Formats: sequence, C-alpha cells, structure tokens
Amino acid sequence: MAIFVQPSYGSLTTRYVNRLLQFSVRIFAVALFCVPALAARAFDQSRHVVVVVWDGMRPDFVSEQNTPALWKLSREGVTFRNHHSVYPSATMVNGTALVTGVYPGKNGIVANHVYRPDIDPHHTIDVELPPVVKKGDELSGGKYISVPTIAEIVERAGGRTVIAATKTVGLLLDRQTNLKDQLGKANRAASPLGEGERMARRAVAERRREVRGSDTPDNEKAETLTLPSPLGRERRRNSESEIHSQPAINSVILVAGKTLPSSALAPITAALGAFPSGHVEQDAWTTKALTDVLWNDGVPPLSILWLGEPDLTQHESAPGAPAALAAIKSADKNLTAVLAALDQRKAAGTTDLFIVSDHGFSTIERSVDLRKILNDAGFTAKTEFTDEPKTGDLMLAGNGGSVLLYIIGHHEKVIRRLVEFLQQSDFAGVIFTKQPMEGTFGLEQAMLQSDHAADVVMAFRWNDAKNQFGVPGMIDADWQRAAGKGTHATLSRFDMHNTLIAAGPDFRRGETADLPTGNTDLAPTILQILGIKSPQPLDGRILSEAMGSSHIDATSRNGGHQSAEQALSGKPESKRIEATKDFAAGSWQQSLRVSRVGSTIYLDEGNGQFAPK
Ligand SMILES: [Zn+2]
Ligand SMILES: [Zn+2]
Repeated sequence: MAIFVQPSYGSLTTRYVNRLLQFSVRIFAVALFCVPALAARAFDQSRHVVVVVWDGMRPDFVSEQNTPALWKLSREGVTFRNHHSVYPSATMVNGTALVTGVYPGKNGIVANHVYRPDIDPHHTIDVELPPVVKKGDELSGGKYISVPTIAEIVERAGGRTVIAATKTVGLLLDRQTNLKDQLGKANRAASPLGEGERMARRAVAERRREVRGSDTPDNEKAETLTLPSPLGRERRRNSESEIHSQPAINSVILVAGKTLPSSALAPITAALGAFPSGHVEQDAWTTKALTDVLWNDGVPPLSILWLGEPDLTQHESAPGAPAALAAIKSADKNLTAVLAALDQRKAAGTTDLFIVSDHGFSTIERSVDLRKILNDAGFTAKTEFTDEPKTGDLMLAGNGGSVLLYIIGHHEKVIRRLVEFLQQSDFAGVIFTKQPMEGTFGLEQAMLQSDHAADVVMAFRWNDAKNQFGVPGMIDADWQRAAGKGTHATLSRFDMHNTLIAAGPDFRRGETADLPTGNTDLAPTILQILGIKSPQPLDGRILSEAMGSSHIDATSRNGGHQSAEQALSGKPESKRIEATKDFAAGSWQQSLRVSRVGSTIYLDEGNGQFAPK
C-alpha cells in the first residue's frame, strides 16, 4: 500500500520551479539555433569548498544562543530544513555517502560494524580501521569502497585536498592518499613486494584509471604540462613508480592526531604540541592543524574538517545535557576559527562552506540485550565466535540504534523464525531482509543491498517523547549503552534528519530550502562548484534550488541523474510504504516514509509495532 502526499512548497521551491521553467525556455531557444549543449565548467583551482562536519549535530539545536557563528552564517547562506542522513544513521555510513554521492549499498559501507567472514570469520569488524580496509581492498582489487570519493576526484583533476578529522572516519574520505601512503611505505621498506603491497599498487593504478575515465586520454599529458616544477622533477626521478606520479602529491589526511603521509605530522606537532586527550581539545587541535598549518600553502580546492563533537559528548550524556550544549558551543568556536582563517587568507569571497552533520541524535529509552534475548528464545546468537561457526548460528553486529543479523549458511528456517520472533517483540522498529519475507521490506528499499549484506537488518523502535532535558526523540537501542544516554542509527526522524547549512558565493543569501535534500547530494554539488565532472553517475543531486542562476542548468550534468526537465516533472513526492504480518496472537505492522526529488530518494522515517489481538 502506498499513500502519496504532496508536501507543501516553500517560497524558494516555487522560485526554483519558476527558474526551471525559464531554463526550459532557454533550452528550447538553444535547440532552435542548433548551438551545442552548454559546455561543462572547467576545474577552477581558485575556487574553494570547505566542508565542516559537526558529528551528530541535530538541526533543532542551531540557534542564536547555542551556535552564534553558525546561526549568523545561516543568515548569510541557505538553511536546508528537510535534510536527510542515509540509513543506518551512523557515522561511517554517512561519511562515505557524503564523499561518494552514492547510497550505502552501492558504495559498500552499509554500517559502522559489520560481519565480513572473508575479512574476519570470528569477529565483527569496524569498517574504517586500516587493517580492515587493507584486507577489503585486497579481496576486491581496491574496491573496498566501490567508487572514488570527491577528494580522490579532485586530486585526479590536479587539485590538492586536505582532510582533517578528529575521528577515524577521516580514513574513508580520501582513499587515494591512503593507498599512496601504503605503497610509499612498501617501496621504502624492502623488495620484493608482498602480495598486499602488489594489491595496493594494482588498486592505485586501477582507481587512477577509473577516476580519470576512459574518455579523457589527454589528461595525463595535461597534468604533465601543468605540474609545478619540483613535482615534475620528482616525477622523473620516480618514473618507475605510479604512486609518485600522482599530481596532488601534497594532499594530506589528518585523522585522530595521525597523518598520511606521516611526514605531514611534524610541522603540526611543532606548532600545536601532541594530539590532546579530551574530545573538545581534540576538535580545537584538529581545527588549528587545518587553519594554521595545513592551509599554510594556501586554501586548497577541497578541505573537509570533521569534528567529533557534539557526537562524543552526546553519547556520554544525552542530547540537551549541559555538557552536550557545551560541546555544541565548542563546535561553533571551531567554525568561528575556520571563518576567521578564510578571512585572514583573503579566501572568504571564493569559498563555499557546507556545515553538515552526518546524522541526528536520540536518547536511549531502553537498552536491549538482544544476544541474551535471542539465546533465551532458543537461538544460538553470538557477538563473536570462539569456535568455528555452525550453520544456523547468528552473528549480531550492534550499531546502536540498528542491529545487523547474519545467519551462518543463510539457513532459511532460522531466518524465518528469527524474523517472526522480532516481529512479535516489543523493540523492533523496521525489519529489512535480504530475501523477500512477509511483513518486512527488502534491503534495497533502504538502499542497503550489497555483496556482503546481512540477512536481516533491524532498526529499533522509537517515539517522540522527551528526554530528561526536554529534548524529543527516544529510542530502544542495542546493549552497548545504558538507558538515558544518547545514541543514533535508527530510522527515527530525530536520527534521520540532520543539519545542512551552505553559504558562499555560489549560494543564495539568507534563505531556507524546504525541498528534500540528503548527504548524498553534497558530492555532486561540490563537484559542480569546482567545475569537475564526476567519473560516474551519482545517486545524489546538485542542490540547484539553493544556488545562483549559473548552476540551474547544471542539474543535467554532474552525476547525469537529474536533468532540469526531470526536476520539473519530478516534483518532490512523499510516499508511505507498509508491510504487515498476521500471527495467532496479533499482527505486526511496519512502515517507511520515503521522499523523492527527481531520481534521488530520501528516507524520512520508519517504525513498527506488534498489536496483540
Ligand atoms: Zn556520527
Ligand atoms: Zn555517534
């Protein structure tokens, strides 16, 4: 059953539609005179994009009092009031969606913690850790993340990028510099190369071909011509090594106080001392490393600053707690430092800023020990295997507000019994299954279908009650944190709706945008601003409705997904899908609300309940 609802339009949306109409008239005029289609903008290295991620920042905490700098910036730019995380509303998943512009199932990062028996048959893994990424690349020929990130695309176009992240998510944001460093180390070590290093080398070469695209054979020549001379000398000295011929050799990743390449760390610690231990201090250190050291050679085309706050403190306390509000204020101070540095470097007029959070946040109403509950119900459920796993055993990968369940051997009877058990529980919210089952949605409905997908993905139940600090959004969550603390990763509207404010020369001033937007839209929008074509189609769309008129015609280009005409005919729609299953004792019902603009899909919220007879 699907009920379509026509959402109300904000004034900006109306103007957007009007401009699209004007544009379609322009297209018609162009067609009449048989002029070739509008040329793509060229990569403009004098333009800058700075993405500042406030991890876990709820949009309802943006206010003049809580976030004076962000509030002021929103008055100078555009506030996106209907912005979406991808599901699960977790950090690594949304970090990867932000920088690839494609949905989790397609890019390969579908949760923070997953079970990949080909990588580790006995434990669940943290998807971003270097040994995991390395093994994943070895197994997939460098396709652990299946598509290039915007940092890699900018580097391949010849631009420098800087990633500065307090949290380990930074390792997923620029895989090219990551791989280069792996290979650099291997070259410096000893020959012959081990298989891992050969894989890394092949992976770099392959990603290089892929990012460059097959239709631009002259790119390398162009790069050679435009390379600054010191790099040119280095290139000749290292003619044997692909890695040293990368044009953006001075790109840097700073992650949790470490750098790739490792040589980039010394000037940072010389200026700022060692990476501190407190969350707030770590964010300030990482911000200063970006503004005072990594930007010393100039503001590069793309910088991403990933702050760990307010996420870390909201986990330890709860949304709205005094400590959480102080953490939000610290993020705002770091934004002030970024804005001041751009001013000081005379780059404010040529820089577009995106202030975004990866996901929202909720408060735990009840901590659910799912492993114990399932074992008590007769399943063999584990969070690690000490012996060889047996067919029908369950591995649970807890992700806070969602759990991924893997059934060894994909034992059909066990899967069915498990799903029916969850459907009659008092904690399940929405259940997705790899194989179609009554009363569930398919993984593809959450854009989670992938080669290594779990058999069952369950989002916990939620409600809009208020927590001890008067902040709405309560969820059941896994065993890892206690009731009263904060977490996320459900399909609650409080987890799935996050913050996005954009400001700069390419954005309209002092407006709000009500059209649905999502984290997958940042990559195509950023590439459009920089004048770089994506090497492959993206799931996200360019946020033209919030941009100046020079970008309205761009919807038909980057990503190639949403033409102006499509956007015009594909008005934003919202639908609610349901799945039900009847039992002797009652009935299970789950629902999911989905919005769509053109071909880009956003999950609004989903929940479920068992109604006893
Ligand atoms: Zn996060
Ligand atoms: Zn978190």
